[in-house]
Amino acid sequence: MHLTVDVTDAPRKIIHAQLTIPVNPGPLTLLYPKWIPGEHGPTGPIDNLAGIVMTANGQQLSWMRDDINMFAFHVTVPQGVSTLNVKLDFLATAPATGFSAGASTSANLAVLSWNEVVLYPAGISPSEIEVQPAVKLPAGWQYGTALTKTGEENGEIEFAPVSLNMLIDSPLLTGRYFKEIPLAPDVTPKHYLDMAADGPEDLLLSPANLAAFSKLVRETGALYKSRHYESYHFLVTLSDQVSHFGLEHHQSSDDRVDEKTFVDDNLFYLSADLLPHEFTHSWNGKYRRPAGLATGNYEDPMIGNLLWVYEGLTDYLGNVLAARSKIETAAQYRDYLASDAATMDYRPGRTWRDLQDTATAAQTLYETPDAWDNWRRSVDYYPEGDLVWLDVDTTIRKLTHDKKSLNDFLARFEGLGGNTPPKVVPYHFDDVVDGLNDVVPYDWASFLKERLTSKAPHAPLGGTENSGYRLVYTDQPNDYTQARINAYGTMPAWWSIGINVGSDGRISDVLVGSPADKVKLGPGMQIIAVNGRQYTGQLLSDAIRDAKGNSAPIQLIVANTGTFRVIGLDYHDGLRYPHLERVDGTPDYLDEILKPMTEAPKGS
Ligand SMILES: [Zn+2]
Repeated sequence: MHLTVDVTDAPRKIIHAQLTIPVNPGPLTLLYPKWIPGEHGPTGPIDNLAGIVMTANGQQLSWMRDDINMFAFHVTVPQGVSTLNVKLDFLATAPATGFSAGASTSANLAVLSWNEVVLYPAGISPSEIEVQPAVKLPAGWQYGTALTKTGEENGEIEFAPVSLNMLIDSPLLTGRYFKEIPLAPDVTPKHYLDMAADGPEDLLLSPANLAAFSKLVRETGALYKSRHYESYHFLVTLSDQVSHFGLEHHQSSDDRVDEKTFVDDNLFYLSADLLPHEFTHSWNGKYRRPAGLATGNYEDPMIGNLLWVYEGLTDYLGNVLAARSKIETAAQYRDYLASDAATMDYRPGRTWRDLQDTATAAQTLYETPDAWDNWRRSVDYYPEGDLVWLDVDTTIRKLTHDKKSLNDFLARFEGLGGNTPPKVVPYHFDDVVDGLNDVVPYDWASFLKERLTSKAPHAPLGGTENSGYRLVYTDQPNDYTQARINAYGTMPAWWSIGINVGSDGRISDVLVGSPADKVKLGPGMQIIAVNGRQYTGQLLSDAIRDAKGNSAPIQLIVANTGTFRVIGLDYHDGLRYPHLERVDGTPDYLDEILKPMTEAPKGS
């Protein structure tokens, strides 16, 4: 097939595509990708596909959508026809929510996800469909992608033919304000940081942070003892106009963050794990993939029951690698971990829904709102994965007197087969257990199942305890919480009165069983006044602090869908924020875990 995509109208939120597909006469079904790898759900944006016109030998053919499968189009190819031409438009009008189907363009940049602009013949494995891609970009825009450029003619950039799988796995980032920087030039294969932003000043990453990204490249080599790509591109979108998420690919990652992330210390800290996380997926998720997610096509439903490995282990490693690479300090990692552990510990939904169910039901959970999230439990296998895999890591260290660690498991599990081109090596639960047993014999199956099926009211904190720390609460925010307050003006009163509040007083969630729950506060309500004065986060914080040691309730005026209510909140335990406190006389495994595995090369 040939696929030519015209991105010049991306600032107007419309993308034009043209396909030529080799065909045989007779009935033909064309499919639009439905289950998108890495999104773990049927998220193909079929609703924004428009302008589908099919022609052959200059004649327009009529197509019919399948009555059941909305992602399938039927057409009859006339006798004597060997090439079908398809024109289609993708309406890039989605709001900035969700994954790649969310907002992906602005006046200055665009991310092209090829799955959004392609139809392909049913009945052939996508790995066996060869596509010759080309793009036309707005004048003066540059681009980054893992695809290989072969030529340029009339403003159209041509790429080497690839399988449909690899095309969909190779998004293209383009923009007016664009910069490509090689990372760790001492390492083969080559790595690049590609950035597109809404302003030229957003690209001014500090030399120290750039050095940290180069260190990340070296640290992954030391940890995974392999690479499974020909080259790697971090495609970073710095924009407040697009969805914010990361999406992994074999040879690149689609990393979308707030516009000022690379020039603002708070935002940089808050997204410290993003690049290490998505990069780790090249090994854990793309190369090693749970068998249920390795469908090999875009039509069959995916089975998410091992996402606590695919995402949970990656979440743990993304944060550990951020510290090892100096993207964040060890102290910043500990404050992140304290917040993560405390959030999971105050999660009453764990009494009705086990961690396994959050993975099994993943396809229904990614788009859920924050409201009552602590009772629903959302994709908790990410944040709780940090705790479970820290538990695994520190248990190996304890069992082997610190001779072995999760690093040994990863070298074998992710490095299986040494360096390879991109490919998928599927695994099952038993392969994970066998891999851990190869490092140190233990009842790993029961260890994991216990944590996956527990309905205990508290989080599994064995990992923090094994590593020599205890979770405590003080009246001072830790650095991670403070960075959130600084960056977004939010007021985290989660561990005190049991609410998270936005800068405008809007309550995003209420902790079930908390003082706020008892006085019937709810998500979506807005705090108008605190003790008679117009709401600010600081006023609420001061009121919680001052209510400690006296008996007067904190008075709130709260608006709820046009109705106002005065509430007396009887809470007197003061401000409470999580911290990790060192337990004297125990080994500090966390310190060991966060130590870099590599030195900087000489002369750098
Ligand atoms: Zn991930």
